[in-house]
Amino acid sequence: MSIETLVDAATIPPQSNTLPSSPFDPNSFNEAVMSTYGRFPLALERGAGCKVWDTEGREYLDFVAGIATCTLGHAHPAMVEAVTRQIQKLHHVSNLYYIPEQGELAKWIIQHSCADRVFFCNSGAEANEAAIKLARKYAHTVLEIERPIILTANASFHGRTLATITATGQPKYQKYFDPLVPGFHYVPYNDIGAVETAISELDEGDYRVAAILLEPLQGEGGVRPGDIAYFKKLRQICDETGILLIFDEVQVGMGRSGKLWGYEHLGVEPDVFTSAKGLGGGIPIGAMMSKKFCDVFQPGEHASTFGGNPFACGVALTVCQTIEKENILQNVQDRGEQLRNGLKAIAAKYPNHIADVRGWGLINGLELQADITLTAADIVKTAIAEGVLLVPAGPKVVRFVPPLIVTEAEVNTALQAVDKALATVNA
Ligand SMILES: *Cc1c(COP(=O)(O)O)cnc(C)c1O
Repeated sequence: MSIETLVDAATIPPQSNTLPSSPFDPNSFNEAVMSTYGRFPLALERGAGCKVWDTEGREYLDFVAGIATCTLGHAHPAMVEAVTRQIQKLHHVSNLYYIPEQGELAKWIIQHSCADRVFFCNSGAEANEAAIKLARKYAHTVLEIERPIILTANASFHGRTLATITATGQPKYQKYFDPLVPGFHYVPYNDIGAVETAISELDEGDYRVAAILLEPLQGEGGVRPGDIAYFKKLRQICDETGILLIFDEVQVGMGRSGKLWGYEHLGVEPDVFTSAKGLGGGIPIGAMMSKKFCDVFQPGEHASTFGGNPFACGVALTVCQTIEKENILQNVQDRGEQLRNGLKAIAAKYPNHIADVRGWGLINGLELQADITLTAADIVKTAIAEGVLLVPAGPKVVRFVPPLIVTEAEVNTALQAVDKALATVNA
């Protein structure tokens, strides 16, 4: 069965887009929920495939997908089936016992990546925390570094816990939260000279670089792909020194790039990598994978109550198998190329507004010119009015991360909305 047929057969009320609106009051919401997010003035209550509906019954084409998360779109029948099956069977037990679904998901990841072992948690930040802890224990016990330093990149994003906002090379996420976690140092992305300088300058007394943590493609930092020569040289440096090479695949991994893992675009394999966003297709799950050094953690040294429970792992395994069975990576490559070509054609029409179009597979960015007042948020607001959901990646980049099952017609609809948004702001 093709994706289209599967989505059409979704167990969604056929009247999705015609149901009367449920009352929704943003003011009473704001009185109850902390104001940690800047929200667009709409409330979503239903979805099917790449479409979502708000509480007023308005239909949107979803090119945000929970920010690169809902890989199979909304209400995909395979997910509906997996969620139902797993909640009826067993949804949560402690890691005090063997969890077969966790073992099956780990085996699938190992068979489809360079990983040898997996640790499960619930989010991207938590997966990166696990990688940071593994790197520190590896530094103390294998490299014999008393004060290990982890290099990360400027404009990176690794999460919102204290250690991961420290790893994140963007001061705006760190403001007000100091003292930050010691042991991090930032270098410009895709600049090998800066890494070499940092490694030699930070080798002093008890201090030494123990690990390098990078995204294969920077997502939040503006959809910036990694440079192949840079990553190959990093791999060589790490092989020579024993420095751990860690990739944050939370956004770009699990098929979003058109290959299963972002590192496949770079011709190098990491020692450790993390996954979350797309892994469960929208069900919360995170994972840290290790290629060697699999026995760094001993029982009791790291844990998560919810991590790897039967529900999350059972559903994530179904998401993984569906990606494989439905040949979804081919769709990601084809639709990604269509989207980039369309965006480049729009960029050619508005050279004073658009500076660049870039990305891999179905993670793409449209960068606006720096010297104009137009922001990514302006384009996103206009696109929402046109019925297409988009998300900024920084102030000047509009990000396109639709479900991986997006169709040719849906990509065209999104392109028309962007063209119209630019025509509107141009007028
Ligand atoms: C979103 C993201 C994270 C954080 O994931 P959470 O699930 O929000 O904790 C970490 N790294 C990258 C690259 C991300 O895109």
